[in-house]
Amino acid sequence: MISQSQWFLKWLLPTIASALVGSLLLGTLYWAAARADQVAAERQKDLVTLIVSKMQSSVAHDQESATVWDDAVVKTKAGDLDWLATNLGHWMHTYFGHDAAVVLSADGLIIYQFIAESENAPSAEDLRESYLPLARRLRERLSAGEEAVSDTALSIGQSDLTYVGKRPAIVSVKPITSDTGEIEQRAGEENLHVAVRFLDSDFLAEIGNEYQFAEMQFTVDNPHDKSHSQIPLKSASGQLIGFFNWHPFEPGSSVLYATLPVIGLSVLSIFVAASLSGRAIWKRSARLALSRQQLQHLALHDSLTGLANRAHFERELASRLESALPQAKHGVLFVDLDRFKAVNDTYGHPTGDKLISLVALRLLDLLPNALIGRIGGDEFTVLLDRSEAQEAGSLAESIVKRLREPFDIDGAHVVVGASVGVALATGTLDAVELIRRADIALYHAKAAGRNTYAIFGEHMDDLLRKRRRLEHDLRAALKGKTQFEIFYQPVYPANSDLPCSLEALSRWRHPELGLIPPDVFIPIAEEIGAIHEIGALVLEDACDMLAALPLIDIAINASAIEMASPGYPLRVLSTLAKWGVEPNRLEIEITESLAVSGEEQTTRNVTMLREARVRLAIDDFGTGHSSFSRVQSMIVDRIKIDKSFIHNISQDRTRAVVDAIITMARAQGLDTTAEGVETNEQRNAVISLGCDNVQGFLLSRPISRGQVLALFNEKNCARNLLEGR
Ligand code: C2E
Ligand code: CA
Ligand code: CA
Repeated sequence: MISQSQWFLKWLLPTIASALVGSLLLGTLYWAAARADQVAAERQKDLVTLIVSKMQSSVAHDQESATVWDDAVVKTKAGDLDWLATNLGHWMHTYFGHDAAVVLSADGLIIYQFIAESENAPSAEDLRESYLPLARRLRERLSAGEEAVSDTALSIGQSDLTYVGKRPAIVSVKPITSDTGEIEQRAGEENLHVAVRFLDSDFLAEIGNEYQFAEMQFTVDNPHDKSHSQIPLKSASGQLIGFFNWHPFEPGSSVLYATLPVIGLSVLSIFVAASLSGRAIWKRSARLALSRQQLQHLALHDSLTGLANRAHFERELASRLESALPQAKHGVLFVDLDRFKAVNDTYGHPTGDKLISLVALRLLDLLPNALIGRIGGDEFTVLLDRSEAQEAGSLAESIVKRLREPFDIDGAHVVVGASVGVALATGTLDAVELIRRADIALYHAKAAGRNTYAIFGEHMDDLLRKRRRLEHDLRAALKGKTQFEIFYQPVYPANSDLPCSLEALSRWRHPELGLIPPDVFIPIAEEIGAIHEIGALVLEDACDMLAALPLIDIAINASAIEMASPGYPLRVLSTLAKWGVEPNRLEIEITESLAVSGEEQTTRNVTMLREARVRLAIDDFGTGHSSFSRVQSMIVDRIKIDKSFIHNISQDRTRAVVDAIITMARAQGLDTTAEGVETNEQRNAVISLGCDNVQGFLLSRPISRGQVLALFNEKNCARNLLEGR
């Protein structure tokens, strides 16, 4: 379409414009030239007519110069042929160009005759035939006593256009009369002088030269030649003698021909100008079209990855589903990164953006033909067509696998991982419903421990509804804060029943669902960005408790997101300061993977807190699959051996592991706590291996604030009693 309009603007339009202007200009000029030529031709015809008639009178006038003369009267009467030849014959030929001359006596006899020599000179007979009627008529007029009336003519005469033989000529007859009036002659008895001037020879050349008539010629018949002008030549009696023809001078045409190059040039310039402005217009409109295209692309695509955006993906999915055949299979994958928020918080948004771009590239690499959309910060959707939908499960698996591989971003090794929800459909189905099902499957995959995929089944709907409800209720609960309660689980030294510290554990008392364990709501809080508020609540409560119980230490659990956030150390330290609590009475438990992650902000935060004398512990030690050597590089104060080891401590293999952990910790100068101690055997086992502290249901379950205060009152009383004894 663009190339068509380009062709039109660049070539067709300029051609039409210049052709139009050109033909208009040419038409007008041609018309004006034809008009001018026509007028000129008329003028020339008038001119030729005038010249002929002038010639006729000038022949008569020439004659008078010799015929109105006393000498001529005398010499004619005397028959002095020499004189006549000199003055009335030959002289007139050489001087005026007359072609023949005859002197006639009163009774019509030829006194003298002169015929100029030429190729087609007339015979005497032809000559005679031509002038006889004129001579006769003149003599009649003379006899009647007619005299010259005009100022220009000295005598009357008779002249006509006629043939002399076969040639057109002016034949003029004049009486030979006295110029002084001293020689009396009887009227009608004068001698006559005949002069002949041919119109077909040198006369034509003469007027051709003098008036610039080209190809002047005489024809007997009308040549009917359009390119020539002609005027008829008629005798006084109206008899047609022939035609004068010539090629007319055409001023219009000459002007036209002279201006043709100019017109050509102007047409060319119009074409060039129109073509140039056409080009400019095309360029402009092409630019507009391009920016419109770009805008459209922006409207439909995610600017970071170039993938389809949510609206585009949904529209495309809807249109494919609408036109689907009943047996056609479709699949939608919902991909969600598992630890994207942590990466963003830890490395900053530019790294987060790079990560998203790299994830998009991996997805495109895996599924080059599928429609892929980015529909949220770290959420991607994939539309699988018929063939791909058959193997949706294995595709989802390979996506999970591919996204678990580390990303290299500016030298940092970033590991995220992804969960994938899969929904399949056959035939026509509502697009929104298909996406919703994939979303439900995704939640299922996440609930199953992340880094995995799940295919939608009807049973999942329920799970999702519950999860959604929890998200919603958690947000609401955080506004009021009254639904949260902090429990404390006492920790005991190996050989004492007096607790040395407490671990703060948060509880959510849902008004309808009852007590919700932190294993359920903490990941939700992390996901919806509410973990900082919960952390702050626990910290505040713990400091309150520390202030109330000066002899006891307290440990709190920090989520990876908290520990990676730049404001965390300051919040901890300012809360401690606010309650006037020594920092070394607070211990922060972080997970093993976080402790060894080496993430810059986390390391900085850990260092800052330790420099402020806050203690750090590695929680759930032994589950993070990290080597001891890496743990050694992390500066902490305590290791909490995961309860799974304690539960299986009766097994020799496990016992050996716990032994190794404790030995390693001691070598590093770290304290150890065995958590999840439920039986006396477990307690004895860990103590025998040299564990410093024990924690577990055997000694105490997590208890409420009131119970804590009561317990310490009781213990203090006991201690006082003991000390008093
Ligand atoms: P954790 O840090 O490993 O906490 C110990 C968990 O083990 C607690 O579960 C505690 O009730 C349970 N426990 C203690 N003794 C025994 C025992 O003898 N046998 C068994 N089977 N379990 C025992 P709880 O309170 O449900 O907390 C679960 C997890 O939730 C915690 O594991 C911790 O990772 C997280 N959590 C709890 N409160 C918070 C909090 O305020 N902030 C953060 N970030 N995480 C928290
Ligand atoms: Ca803990
Ligand atoms: Ca633990």
